[in-house]
Amino acid sequence: MLVDGEPQNVVIVSHTNPDGDAIGSSLAWATTLHRRGHRVMCVVPNRYPSFLDWMPGIDELRVYKIHKEEVEKAIAEADTIYCMDFNQIQRLDGIGELIEKNTGAKTVLIDHHLDPPHVYGLELSYPKSSSTSFLVYCLIEEIEGLGAIDKTIGEQLYAGIMTDTGNFSFSFLSPELFRAVAVLVEKGIDIPYINRMVYHSFTADRLKLLGHVLDKMQIMKAGGEQIAYMTLKESDLRKFNFQIGDSEGFVNYPLSIRGLALAAMFIETRQFIRVSFRSREDVDCSEFARRYFDGGGHKNASGGKSYVPMAQTVEDYKKAVHEFFGGRQKLPD
Ligand code: 5GP
Ligand code: MN
Repeated sequence: MLVDGEPQNVVIVSHTNPDGDAIGSSLAWATTLHRRGHRVMCVVPNRYPSFLDWMPGIDELRVYKIHKEEVEKAIAEADTIYCMDFNQIQRLDGIGELIEKNTGAKTVLIDHHLDPPHVYGLELSYPKSSSTSFLVYCLIEEIEGLGAIDKTIGEQLYAGIMTDTGNFSFSFLSPELFRAVAVLVEKGIDIPYINRMVYHSFTADRLKLLGHVLDKMQIMKAGGEQIAYMTLKESDLRKFNFQIGDSEGFVNYPLSIRGLALAAMFIETRQFIRVSFRSREDVDCSEFARRYFDGGGHKNASGGKSYVPMAQTVEDYKKAVHEFFGGRQKLPD
């Protein structure tokens, strides 16, 4: 029912600041639907990081900020709209309103974030999946059979799986996931190549920016826990010739400190401060993001926004941390 039938106009949308999983799951699903004869456009609100430039099919992707009219027309004429790798319409910026205007389109959610709002025509929501790309793998296997997966789709899916699992180091690493990866290897994907394209494609400035951020990292205590935070101001971004994607992964570094409960990263943008959280397995940073920073996400990787200046944001964070961890018992290391 998702892929067969008369050719349809399909739009596949994913979230602002698209990451490897957003792009990988969208492109793989687009490739599958396109091969079934559907007219498909993949859309994201803003530019994707350049470490995804190599992905097969990425040139077909439309960026709303750049291809405004084309995207507006495609969404207005869509029969089906797939929403990949997010569940809160606010994460689409202006695209959300375009989707709401097309009341005739069927909307389908394919996602792994917690607590989906029940606003989609069909909801394929599996928070226990380590990535949306793995969900797409399962969908293709179920509907089309593994014969439909070739090296192209394999590379698209692997990029999403690899980035969202932190190179197979975060939660929900099921036997089924590794079996899926084995199938992708059989299909001919070149893991060292994908690894190099995604993780070894930065500028020297980006590495120096990381050094700068880590040097300024602050550690505080609350409720017997160690908590970290890092800030990136617009002046830092300018100094190190910041490009989209450069700060990807920075927030993970403090978690290499033994026992650390929560790490936060605050990045100044023109409109607001972008906030990222990562937490130890037993700490729910999605709840923290929802409660204090207008955000959400996964239990151990979440994000949100702050609409006050950096100094105030940091003060708000410290207060929130004391409130959140104040009553917690520290677990043994
Ligand atoms: P990152 O720190 O990599 O930008 O985001 C980590 C995770 O947090 C994302 O996969 C997403 O689930 C969630 N997230 C990031 N920003 C937001 C936000 O503004 N709102 C919500 N609801 N979730 C977010
Ligand atoms: Mn994801």
